[in-house]
Amino acid sequence: MGGFAYLAPTSAADALAALSQAASAGTRTQMLAGGTDVLVQMRSVDKGPRTFVDVKHIAEANALHIGDDEVFMGAAIASAELNENAELKSMLPGLIEAADLIGSTQIQGRATIGGNLCNSSPAGDTIPALIACGAVCVIASPGGNKEVPTEDFVTGVGTNVLQPTEFLVGFKIPRPKGKTADAYLRFIPRTEMDIAVCGAGVALTLDDGGTCTAAKVSIGAVAITALVVPDAAAALIGTKVDDAALAAAAAASSALAKPITDKRGTVEYRKKVVGVLTKRAGAIARDRAAAR
Ligand SMILES: Cc1cc2nc3c(=O)[nH]c(=O)nc-3n(C[C@H](O)[C@H](O)[C@H](O)COP(=O)(O)OP(=O)(O)OC[C@H]3O[C@@H](n4cnc5c(N)ncnc54)[C@H](O)[C@@H]3O)c2cc1C
Repeated sequence: MGGFAYLAPTSAADALAALSQAASAGTRTQMLAGGTDVLVQMRSVDKGPRTFVDVKHIAEANALHIGDDEVFMGAAIASAELNENAELKSMLPGLIEAADLIGSTQIQGRATIGGNLCNSSPAGDTIPALIACGAVCVIASPGGNKEVPTEDFVTGVGTNVLQPTEFLVGFKIPRPKGKTADAYLRFIPRTEMDIAVCGAGVALTLDDGGTCTAAKVSIGAVAITALVVPDAAAALIGTKVDDAALAAAAAASSALAKPITDKRGTVEYRKKVVGVLTKRAGAIARDRAAAR
């Protein structure tokens, strides 16, 4: 059995070399970003020795590029830094709001959207928001970078598509064009710092007459992974996103949800609330899009 070690590579190539070397030697590695999940887990469920490979010093994972057609957001950027970026906040308000829901100011000084996704909790707040705005995961792999849509990244509770020799570099997100906007809402029993009972992310586009021409809806904490809700999007497209359309989208989210009953809520309660959140997030996204 090995001990604990800590590596802080400064490039994706060095990080990949460290992961491959460890895999060949049969030693366990784990990527470390803000550590706000990892350190909690180390004290409770996962105390075993390993080598931590810190993403916070990898140049590629700290890059933020806002292009004409696409935003690249490095996986190692702390939520606090994203929240303070006014351009990003006005461009992708739903995603940034989701990041802003995570923990306290202190937690956000370390926590990353990449870590939230890679932790792969069914209740990870940024996951439905990433899915709704069409984020694609950029994965560093020994054979070159791979791209995976966010909705295909998480495979189960705490599991995802990453191999031990791979890590998440960041996200490619289509730059919202015209009257396109997103929103994310979650419900928690307290006012802050709690795990979502359920959450809903909506991104939509309106034409100049206010008719919805594109939509994507994703719901969280109501199945083992965040779900895409095609029927909710279909209920919005072609409408003015009025009450009837929002009610139909809500019904589609409630129908697709496959939650469990636990101390935070029953199956029936979660199915009901995720519909309400879909409706409200849809109305917020509509109003934001109309104002653009
Ligand atoms: C007080 C408190 C409140 C919280 N509130 C919320 C909340 O409201 N909503 C919520 O969703 N979460 C919450 N969390 C959980 C946690 O803060 C988030 O999931 C956070 O986004 C994790 O990011 P991190 O950078 O700290 O990840 P880390 O803890 O560093 O890593 C998390 C996991 O992802 C892996 N990983 C990280 N980065 C990469 C990468 N680039 N490539 C491959 N694997 C990687 C790690 O190996 C680990 O398995 C809270 C935690 C605390 C302690």
